[in-house]
Amino acid sequence: MNRYSRLYIDGYEDVVRCDNSQLGFSAWIAVHNCWRGPALGGCRVWNYRSDDEALTDVLRLGKGMTYKNALAGLPLGGGKMVVRANLAAIDRTALFTEIGRFVDTLSGRYITAEDVNSSVVDMAVVQQQTRHVATVGASGNPSPFTAYGVYCAIKAGIAHKLKRERLSGLTVAIQGAGETGGRLAELLAGDGCRIIAADINENNLQKLGEKIVFDRVAPESIYDVPCDIFSPCALGATLNRRTIPRLLCQLVAGSANNQLETPEDGLLLHRRSILYAPDYAANAGGVINISCEIGQHYDAAKAKTLTAGIENTLLHIFALSAQRELPPEEIADQLAEEGFSAPCSAS
Ligand code: NAD
Repeated sequence: MNRYSRLYIDGYEDVVRCDNSQLGFSAWIAVHNCWRGPALGGCRVWNYRSDDEALTDVLRLGKGMTYKNALAGLPLGGGKMVVRANLAAIDRTALFTEIGRFVDTLSGRYITAEDVNSSVVDMAVVQQQTRHVATVGASGNPSPFTAYGVYCAIKAGIAHKLKRERLSGLTVAIQGAGETGGRLAELLAGDGCRIIAADINENNLQKLGEKIVFDRVAPESIYDVPCDIFSPCALGATLNRRTIPRLLCQLVAGSANNQLETPEDGLLLHRRSILYAPDYAANAGGVINISCEIGQHYDAAKAKTLTAGIENTLLHIFALSAQRELPPEEIADQLAEEGFSAPCSAS
């Protein structure tokens, strides 16, 4: 049986916890802000070392979704769910059945979706308990849209920085050739870019090699590659005081979340005159696509058109950044904050 409790946390509209000792999991939903609409954010399952670690993660991720959804202009607020569980030792169907019941207790103020360690199949189980879930049966994997959004962000960066419309002839160093990085590489190669990629997973490089011609470097050497664009598409925090001095590029734009290790790292890029496409602006294609699955007939063409809007959002951010002499990520935060100014009333 699920046991529910509410936590009161400054700056969040709702934080609720679910414990199920029988199955052996705890879960938290953080609704950060739903001024724009119900809070959309995925369900992340992780074997957290402690409850504190899980709570910190859900608060950070939920707030991040408010900024991402607002900047993308979606009629959605921000929230997230994390589940502390050991997937190797738990009945997966039973887990996601209870997760569905937990989501339903928020009566639609939070909408869930797949995320790290939760899949479209798991969401189908969730959907049997609640209708407040995106994804199921519509477009499936959001990665192609995320990759396309990053491609649009790169086009904006190149237009702003190099005053070029075409990407052909540019060199792009891609860190991580997975779901998003691999697809991005294909799009860029199709436009005549030279691709240099690194990955710790040989299989993913091999798969990419079956689709396009590219050069590969060792994972640790990707920062030293002379290129026009550096594209972090693997992990967070790869832009930091150790790696930024090594970069030999004009633009950084990638799919990874939380690319800057600290806010000072954004300033470091700015001082080096490397244009940075704020991560949550560049990688919003996935959530834009998911938003098209909520409460409407899914239309892939519409999702692609909306994702293409990332180019204009980035152009606007870069223009304001130049005008106000502030790093692009500060401008992105300001624009996002203008989009969610007051909390909504509880339903
Ligand atoms: P993925 O797991 O499919 O790909 C990541 C790739 O990076 C893998 O091939 C992995 O082997 C590689 N990698 C890991 N560590 C590396 C390292 N040190 N050096 C080089 N390569 C390394 O994941 P993904 O779905 O492509 O997501 C990539 C990033 O984008 C993540 O940070 C994710 O949170 C973020 N993101 C993804 C989406 C989406 O729609 N998939 C949406 C928004 C943000």
